[in-house]
Amino acid sequence: MGGLLLILAGLKDVRDGCAAAGIVGIGGVLALFGFLLTGSDGTIGNLLRKLRLRRLSRKLTAILGTPTTSHSDLAMTWTGPRCGSIVALSWNLDMPTTQVAIQIPGGSPGTLRIVPSPSRGGRLIGGRSIPTRHEEFDRTFLARSEPTTLLGDLFADSRRDRAARALLDLPDGPSARVILTLSDVRLRVPRVLQRPDGLDRLIAAAQIFAAAIAEAARQPGYSILSVGTGTSGRCLICVSALESEVVLCIRCRTPHHQSCWEYAGECATFACGGRRWIPAGNVP
Ligand SMILES: [Zn+2]
Ligand SMILES: [Zn+2]
Repeated sequence: MGGLLLILAGLKDVRDGCAAAGIVGIGGVLALFGFLLTGSDGTIGNLLRKLRLRRLSRKLTAILGTPTTSHSDLAMTWTGPRCGSIVALSWNLDMPTTQVAIQIPGGSPGTLRIVPSPSRGGRLIGGRSIPTRHEEFDRTFLARSEPTTLLGDLFADSRRDRAARALLDLPDGPSARVILTLSDVRLRVPRVLQRPDGLDRLIAAAQIFAAAIAEAARQPGYSILSVGTGTSGRCLICVSALESEVVLCIRCRTPHHQSCWEYAGECATFACGGRRWIPAGNVP
């Protein structure tokens, strides 16, 4: 709006024959252009991002063999078989990320979070990091699991190096995040991956984690929780009871704690891809 007023002011000054008018006019045009790029209704900026999303969608559909689904909020999802399992891929263009989700064979033994060390912006909520006894991994990531024994079993001698290297050796690996929910394990990197080799490596790393978690869960003492059995009234991200601050996925209506939703950045249901919630109280 400011740009428009400046342009009008500039035009008026041109009619008055003022020498400064041209400068004011140009300033106005620049301000208007800036407004269009960044304005609240984001006209040109949004259009460019939508075009980029459409181009990326065509490219990924060609790579993956079946269509991706574009969402209005500059995100895209794809679900299908890849490298021997059903995977749910998602891309987010406004905060550049690519994520792969894979269901744990046999069901989830709990929940787990791995985030980059604080120097790379990682932050663990709900307790201290549990060491895995893999030196480089512990320098690079913070990790926590529920039950707390799960992380130790995942990084037991026979699996420690395999699990650690799966993440450390990925391009962008040290900035990757892993979340195990009751429905799947999710591995996310801060980049929009759009080449077959990059996607295959991301999927392979997630598959190593999914297999290692399934192996760890065969140790005695785990009750395998799969969504729907023994989990009603519980949050899929933290497994605690849903008593307050409950929000529902706008797409599939799965309930979550609001803080858990914010941590995961999206719905916890496998392949849902919902990124917006409504307060549970507002359900008709
Ligand atoms: Zn929760
Ligand atoms: Zn959902």
